[in-house]
Amino acid sequence: MRKVDKLGRIVIPLELREKHGLCEGVTVEFFDTGDGITVKCADTYCKICHKKISGDSDFPLCDECIARAVTEYGIEKG
Ligand SMILES: [Zn+2]
Repeated sequence: MRKVDKLGRIVIPLELREKHGLCEGVTVEFFDTGDGITVKCADTYCKICHKKISGDSDFPLCDECIARAVTEYGIEKG
C-alpha cells in the first residue's frame, strides 16, 4: 500500500512500472472508472525497444524493429 503525499503524489510500484513501460518521462493519463482510477500511458512506445513512436497503436513497433522483424523472422505488417 502507498500513501498519497500532500501534493497528491504517489509512487507507482516498480514491478507495475516495468510491466507497463512507465519509465521516467512517460506521459500518463488518468481515467475515473467510478470505483477507482486507471492510469494509462498516453504515449505509444515500441513494444520491443521502448522507443517513442508516433501514429496508431494497433501496431506498436518502431520502423527499425518492424524492418528487423521482416528480415529476421519473415513477419509482414498488416
Ligand atoms: Zn523498436
